[in-house]
Amino acid sequence: MMKSIQVDSKLCNGCRICMMVCSEKKSGKFNPFCSGIRIHSDSETGTDVPSVCRQCRNPVCIKACPAEKTWKGTKPFAPPIFRDEKTGIVWLDTSKESCLGCRECMLACPFGSIRLVPEDLQLVKCDLCGGDPQCVLSCPTGAIRFVEVSLLHGNRAK
Ligand code: SF4
Ligand code: SF4
Repeated sequence: MMKSIQVDSKLCNGCRICMMVCSEKKSGKFNPFCSGIRIHSDSETGTDVPSVCRQCRNPVCIKACPAEKTWKGTKPFAPPIFRDEKTGIVWLDTSKESCLGCRECMLACPFGSIRLVPEDLQLVKCDLCGGDPQCVLSCPTGAIRFVEVSLLHGNRAK
C-alpha cells in the first residue's frame, strides 16, 4: 500500500517538533536546516504551514538529474535519485559516486522540497523515514498524517 504525508495546516501550531525529530533522525543533530520537513510561518496572518516532499508520481527532480546521461556507458550506474515504484518513495542519496553535486534536482522541485544544509552543503529531502515517518508520530496536533495515496487526490503533483 502506497502512503504519503497529508498536511492540514489549520491544525499546525508552529511548534516545529516535527523538524527537530526529523533532523535528529537524518543527521543525529537538532538542527532545523537538516530537517526534510519545514514549517513556513507568516507572522502577519499567524499561520504555520508544514511543507514536505510530495513523493510525486512523475518526479521532476528525477527528470532534471543529469547523472544517468553523464555516466552512460562509462561505469555501472546507481542513480543518486530515484523513485521506488513499490513504496512510491523518492530517494535521494548525494553520497553516491554517481551524484555530480550539481543541485539540478533541488532547483527543479516546484515545491522547494529538496533543501541545502548550509553547514555542509549537502542536500536533504524527506524519504518518509523509509515508510514510518517520525514527524507524523511526533506531531502533537495531527497536522501531518500518513495516509493512503488514494486519499490525497488533488493534493499532490501528478
Ligand atoms: S545533485 Fe546529484 S541527484 Fe541532484 S541532480 Fe545533481 S547529480 Fe542528480
Ligand atoms: S522533491 Fe519535489 S519534485 Fe521531487 S518528488 Fe518531492 S515534491 Fe516531487
